Amino acid sequence: MPTEKPKFVWMNGALVESEKANVPILSHALHYGTGVFEGIRAYKTRQGISVFRLKEHMRRLLDSAHAYMMPIPYTESELCEATTTLLAKNGMNDSTYIRPIAFKAEAGISLDFRKVPVWVAIVALPFDKYFEKEGGLNVCVSSWRRIGEPSLLSLAKASGHYINSAIARVEAAENGYDEALLLNQRGFVAEGTGENVFIVKNGVIYTPPLSAGILEGITRDSVCTLALDDGLKLQERDILRGELYRCDEAFFAGTAVGVSPIVSIDKRVVGEGHLGPVTRRIRDLYSKVVSGDDERYSHWLTSVRPAAAYSKVRGAK
Ligand code: PMP
Repeated sequence: MPTEKPKFVWMNGALVESEKANVPILSHALHYGTGVFEGIRAYKTRQGISVFRLKEHMRRLLDSAHAYMMPIPYTESELCEATTTLLAKNGMNDSTYIRPIAFKAEAGISLDFRKVPVWVAIVALPFDKYFEKEGGLNVCVSSWRRIGEPSLLSLAKASGHYINSAIARVEAAENGYDEALLLNQRGFVAEGTGENVFIVKNGVIYTPPLSAGILEGITRDSVCTLALDDGLKLQERDILRGELYRCDEAFFAGTAVGVSPIVSIDKRVVGEGHLGPVTRRIRDLYSKVVSGDDERYSHWLTSVRPAAAYSKVRGAK
């Protein structure tokens, strides 16, 4: 996971030094989870670093905020510009994790947040690997169910939702697993704690539909596009827990984890117990795309120009 602290963050419309980007202790979001956020990555390419599917992430941030009635006072293009400006200002030149967050800030204790201002920040950190482990993940089916409708908006990426992911992740780690898979309220496979899941059986790739109460992952969408463009067979449908125990391959897909093979589920070895051919194909395609080595998907990348190219950076204090 990201480690070092960046020099600048973008906060409420300006670049500020990290130490000065503080949040009030009575922030509504701190107490009640009333925030929405994103996780984005920038990758090293031959043209410097490029942000992967920046617009789609900012669109999802705005949609999450809209759904939870906490409108963000910036447009999609302003947020994209703020991100590239921040990366340039921090001199990021290697793999980077970007965390935009919009949250209900200063408040009293009332739950009614309508009058509470929305603060928006973007933080960029050097990215290290998300999973320590190389060579495939040992996963368990969590005893916790994935939260979702009708109590919460599963399509929104909201701060408060993540206590569900966190408790499942901690449980998995306590039991010696690398990651958890959560079932939904109907008992079908939903997703990992911070990533979508795919299984492969007899050459067909399966992944749960949005109606399974999952987050509509941008990596998931990228994987589906790459698989279909590559002539692979793919189907979105409900997946039974039992299908996890008899699939040929399984993998996670998410911004932080990329495409990560799963080698066992609840102690049942998946396929041959190592990276399978379909997962390898998808992983290779994906890593070529994010590194800018596949022209067909260059529209998914936003390159970060040197700091001098950004007027706001030159003017920034
Ligand atoms: N599901 C959950 C619960 C997540 O937190 C994430 C990470 N954002 C994903 C799936 C994968 O989404 P993405 O590919 O957009 O990172």
